[in-house]
Amino acid sequence: METTKFLLSEKELPESWYNIVPDLPFELDPPIHPATREPVGPDAFTPIFPQEIIRQEVSTENHIPIPEEVRQIYALWRPTPLFRARRLERYLDTPARIYYKYEGVSPPGSHKPNTAVPQAYYNREEGVRRLTTETGAGQWGSSLAFACRLMGMECTVYMVRVSYEQKPYRRVMMQTYGAQVHASPTDITQAGRNVLAEDPDTTGSLGIAISEAVEDAVGNEDAKYSLGSVLNHVLLHQTVNGQEAIKQMEMAGEWPDVVIGCAGGGSNFGGFAFPFLRENLKGSRRTRFVAVEPASCPTLTKGRFTYDFGDTAGTTPMMKMYTLGHSFVPAGIHAGGLRYHGDSPILSALVHHGFVEARAYPQNPTFEAGVTFAQVEGIVPAPEVNHAIKAAMDLALEAKEAGEEKVIAFNLCGHGHFDLGAYERYLAGELVDLEYSEEEIERAVAAIPG
Ligand SMILES: *Cc1c(COP(=O)(O)O)cnc(C)c1O
Repeated sequence: METTKFLLSEKELPESWYNIVPDLPFELDPPIHPATREPVGPDAFTPIFPQEIIRQEVSTENHIPIPEEVRQIYALWRPTPLFRARRLERYLDTPARIYYKYEGVSPPGSHKPNTAVPQAYYNREEGVRRLTTETGAGQWGSSLAFACRLMGMECTVYMVRVSYEQKPYRRVMMQTYGAQVHASPTDITQAGRNVLAEDPDTTGSLGIAISEAVEDAVGNEDAKYSLGSVLNHVLLHQTVNGQEAIKQMEMAGEWPDVVIGCAGGGSNFGGFAFPFLRENLKGSRRTRFVAVEPASCPTLTKGRFTYDFGDTAGTTPMMKMYTLGHSFVPAGIHAGGLRYHGDSPILSALVHHGFVEARAYPQNPTFEAGVTFAQVEGIVPAPEVNHAIKAAMDLALEAKEAGEEKVIAFNLCGHGHFDLGAYERYLAGELVDLEYSEEEIERAVAAIPG
């Protein structure tokens, strides 16, 4: 029988996370204070994050040990399988060999608990009893709700009102894990009350929900805030995935020529790609890396590499990254996890320096790729992942044109079981493709201070 699935035993679960920062051949620009434009020290983060997370955020150590209790919880679904997409290869009639790592086997259904679990753990170790966060479509909220429950902590989620009303099942999942879920804006925070006073019928936004979650954490001694993407420590925790993938590619007797992932805030891409990218940085490999984003939120492909705020309200320190401007409101596409105006500072710098390339697709072609994938490989992917699948298929077809035996690996970072409403609209021909003009992006970028 042909091998399609490469499995590792629990014992082979990585013992540390891989920190790419000390291996980067350039300096990362530090976060700065918006008024003074001086670098902010780690202290700026102490009201919202625990000490160990702040240490990891600025760490220059190559390997950071994964605590035993975290590994034990990872073992509920890790190591995750690596598949060879033989049916997709045959469907495309390509000489390329296509592999995908499947993170949809985690209880919440995506890669996000890889960081939710250690974040909850370090908070609990430092005496924090409750975590607050925001969520849009609910993938991050359900991962943090899951992690908090397993660590015996409380979890408060500010869920953007429009999603709260239109996408009830992720909310019910969070509530099933025991989290308290609020439709944001609420009347329990000042930030929420301000917005409601101006517009009682607002649909809410991720920016408002972040402000509410941060205010709740800062104002309560026993609570801290938790973020599911973008920051260095989040990408760090996700590298458990890429490290497993290297061992599994070795089982298959392969090393990828191309590594692909979708990019919202950059965490699933970084976690999958960085352990492979390390070999390029050491000079021992020349793998190609492709981060894929929506054409309607083209941060890496059309944004500017500059200092900007992480949130819409402009309350965070400023980070050097590709950004469309913190006031940029992307269209309501179904790949909700990719609707962020900025991107990870590490991934942004890697794109800027030419180590990672970026491409963008409109949503209809990505859904077409996702439906094809479901029909040949069986897994219904999250709409975000469809961007990576579209790129993998395009590159496999290019390999066919060129008659090359390329090895392509991509990260299938979550299933789409809660996104069937989006598939329903795609199948009914109701999805529209939006792209922004240079002018519109110019305007959004012009609003960045400094
Ligand atoms: C949250 C999410 C994303 C986007 O976030 P990244 O930090 O870029 O990974 C992509 N895919 C899925 C399935 C998600 O849940």
